[in-house]
Amino acid sequence: MSRVKENYCTECGWSVSSADHMVSERTQLAIEHAVTTGHDIDCLFDTDEPPTDGFATDLTRQSTD
Ligand SMILES: [Zn+2]
Repeated sequence: MSRVKENYCTECGWSVSSADHMVSERTQLAIEHAVTTGHDIDCLFDTDEPPTDGFATDLTRQSTD
């Protein structure tokens, strides 16, 4: 299960991180930024394991064969 580490704007560099705000506060701030500016908000995830995609899976399979 991944957690959102930081919310950021893809258009102007605006961001809020977990170091500065609670999750609920960051969500609210991100929504307010999106509504007031019309910008798109994206988020970074703090994951224990790196996400697996086809490329990484192929590399792992090749190295173990
Ligand atoms: Zn923005």
